[in-house]
Amino acid sequence: MDNLRSPENRVAVPVTRRALVIGGGITGIQASLDIADAGYEVLLVEKTPSIGGHMLQYSEVFPTLDCPQCIGTPKMVEVGQHPNIKIMAYSEVDSVSGEVGKFTVTIRKKAKYVDWDRCNGCGVCQQKCLTTVPAEYNCGLPFNKRKAIYTPFAQAVPNKPVIDRDHCGHFTTGICQVCSKTCPLGDGVIDYSQEDTLVEENVGAIVVAAGFDLMAKGAISEFVEDPDIIDGLEFERILCPSGPTAGAVMRPSDGIEPREVVFISCVGSRDPELGVPYCSRVCCMYLAKQALLYKHAVHDGQAYIFYMDQRTTGKGYEEFVRRAVEEYDVMYLRGRASKIFRDGDRLRVQGADTLSGKRVDISCDLVVLGMAMMPSAGFKELARKLGIATDEYGFITELHSKFRPMETSIPGIYVAGTAQGPRDIPDSVAMGSGVASKVLRVLSLEEGGL
Ligand SMILES: Cc1cc2nc3c(=O)[nH]c(=O)nc-3n(C[C@H](O)[C@H](O)[C@H](O)COP(=O)(O)OP(=O)(O)OC[C@H]3O[C@@H](n4cnc5c(N)ncnc54)[C@H](O)[C@@H]3O)c2cc1C
Ligand code: SF4
Ligand code: SF4
Repeated sequence: MDNLRSPENRVAVPVTRRALVIGGGITGIQASLDIADAGYEVLLVEKTPSIGGHMLQYSEVFPTLDCPQCIGTPKMVEVGQHPNIKIMAYSEVDSVSGEVGKFTVTIRKKAKYVDWDRCNGCGVCQQKCLTTVPAEYNCGLPFNKRKAIYTPFAQAVPNKPVIDRDHCGHFTTGICQVCSKTCPLGDGVIDYSQEDTLVEENVGAIVVAAGFDLMAKGAISEFVEDPDIIDGLEFERILCPSGPTAGAVMRPSDGIEPREVVFISCVGSRDPELGVPYCSRVCCMYLAKQALLYKHAVHDGQAYIFYMDQRTTGKGYEEFVRRAVEEYDVMYLRGRASKIFRDGDRLRVQGADTLSGKRVDISCDLVVLGMAMMPSAGFKELARKLGIATDEYGFITELHSKFRPMETSIPGIYVAGTAQGPRDIPDSVAMGSGVASKVLRVLSLEEGGL
């Protein structure tokens, strides 16, 4: 069953046999590979300079504790080398017209100030550039910085740099040209005169796989701002062997190894007052994972997890949490942390343990907040351009929650992964493959069958 016209009402439409996938996270990667392997062209539009999405930022992934760079990079390389996939990184959809089988999409290719057709990704420009800024990929953590000309991470696909115009000395002071002068390929590869360009592409079907963002910590007014109160994504970067601390666990304020870490789940999620009554579905698991990985790194450290209740419904998930408790001594406290404040060079977390009925007051070095998963930045605008409906929280609305979970309100435009709502990697990948089958049905229809 799909949302194409019923057979008797189908009209003659010449089908453009290529697809557009919006978002190069694990969902978009899987969908692109499945469509391309079936013999159809895919345009993969990613707004950052590289595909990979959130998964590539993680230390290890539950429940099997695989290294995401080891399992994700080969897929990214496959996408990069696939003869049927054209990656348009650092690009965004500007407008869409047409209908199923024959959409016309205008894509904005943002100015990179580097001629990617000539650049070979040698990295000399990044070594020579003297301007440093906090790295978005490392969530702005203080441990290392990126240059004004940069690739977001070592395994980036495509592995070519872009210039951050807001910080580059050439644009801010009009003086620097170091990268241009040191590029071994000579004049013109660095091109300060580049501008955004608009390109028009025709596609038969569209997949929205634009993912999620975490709610900003500042949205929680009862928790103070402090460098040692971080979110789950920041802690992933700290734990990650290829991250800014090379996997050494340090607290951001002074680089000291934390002896006690408090993890708090459901921060923002399941809170109607903040407009997020839904469950983010993965925080129970990734906080258990992070507590376990913290104990791997700091054997004699203590991890505490405040939780409302445990939602560990995936295959092997309940066993994983049990392992964290039984083998790694992670201490679970049922209840809400109501207050976090600085106490000298440590933090204090106060709350209630609703099982024992006692007040809890923990002195610790680091607090990790399991913030709510939200639709990614700019999602509303993207949905508006596509003309598809979003739910009250901003995720894309599926046509039918049970039987049409990947179809949107517009025939030929499909949704997959966390763009539809919070979910883990196995579900996102399954949805990526599922959505590919929907797209293949459209692309393989004979003219007149839509
Ligand atoms: C801290 C944390 C730890 C986690 N750990 C695990 C784990 O161990 N195991 C597990 O199974 N799950 C884990 N998850 C869940 C996992 O991150 C998601 O299931 C997965 O990343 C979803 O992939 P996605 O492709 O849907 O979204 P994303 O990874 O968010 O990718 C979306 C992509 O779309 C791009 N994009 C966004 N908007 C646009 C636009 N307008 N145009 C073009 N491109 C756009 C983004 O830049 C990004 O590259 C964790 C989640 C968090 C928050
Ligand atoms: S030095 Fe030149 S060729 Fe090398 S990565 Fe930089 S722009 Fe590309
Ligand atoms: S012009 Fe200078 S500041 Fe700008 S990216 Fe090149 S080397 Fe860095």
